[in-house]
Amino acid sequence: MKALLYDGRLRLVQDYPEPQLKPGWAVIRVSVAGICRTDLEIMKGYMGFRGVLGHEFVGVVHACENEALVGQRVVGEINAACGECEWCLQGLGRHCPHRATLGILNLDGCLAEYCTLPIANLHGVPDPISDVRAVFTEPVSAAFEPLEQVNITGEERCVVLGDGKLGILCAWALATTCPNVTIVGHHPAKVEAAAWRLLQATTSIDAVAPGADLVVEATGTESGLREAIALCRPRGTIILKSTVAAGASLNLAPVVVNELNIVGSRCGPFQRGLQGLLTYDFPLERLIKGQYPLDEALAAFAHAARPDALKVLIEM
Ligand SMILES: [Zn+2]
Ligand SMILES: [Zn+2]
Repeated sequence: MKALLYDGRLRLVQDYPEPQLKPGWAVIRVSVAGICRTDLEIMKGYMGFRGVLGHEFVGVVHACENEALVGQRVVGEINAACGECEWCLQGLGRHCPHRATLGILNLDGCLAEYCTLPIANLHGVPDPISDVRAVFTEPVSAAFEPLEQVNITGEERCVVLGDGKLGILCAWALATTCPNVTIVGHHPAKVEAAAWRLLQATTSIDAVAPGADLVVEATGTESGLREAIALCRPRGTIILKSTVAAGASLNLAPVVVNELNIVGSRCGPFQRGLQGLLTYDFPLERLIKGQYPLDEALAAFAHAARPDALKVLIEM
């Protein structure tokens, strides 16, 4: 099959072996896949991953021991857990220490004609959700994860730092519950694309009053967490969505003095993401800056790496 392989160098191969069907797993024919910032980070060394890239997709079940699933349109949770450890037995397979992760850790990804995942990871896509919207299920689910982790009543003043895809999606997810959400970015066009419902958007962090109840850090920069700490009120909550913030040297004294809660936040449950896509008219089409066939995947990656690119999709 055709597959987009990263083995220290990104290349499209024509004769990559198709995934073999294993008990409890399904082989999926990929319809549309999205390029994520994580894919670009992997190419800079993140996770040390080698293999087929990609973890955001919608596709059709091609082969599976459960015949009823064959032909169904699905999206898939990206963490393939062992199913037996104490985390898995609590329903927290996303934290299984033995997990493989689609296109990120020990499992070939979805930027190929076929990919494979455990049957338990698959979710049928309701008909009203088109393929180009369904491909956002993974990031939309991640955007709803803060609402799963923190009790948000709607009374809070929320600030989202970062105008990339994840920042914008997090702002939209918060705006479903909170009328008072401000997103802060650097790129006027991206900040403009973020407008939805009552969401306020600005390119000037100085225009945002400190003392926010909840700050989501989704800048993907080292300074993001520092800015989040400065904006958060005493006993407020910071949701950390950027993995790159980890390397920054940081004065944590304000976290102690102000008794801040810092909550790391990664993937979210797909059930909630799909429900969000069904319920809300998130203007996702605005985020799609390019659609390429798999044969032009290298051009798609070059596009996705441009600072103005939001979401770039690849059609198989
Ligand atoms: Zn992603
Ligand atoms: Zn496990």
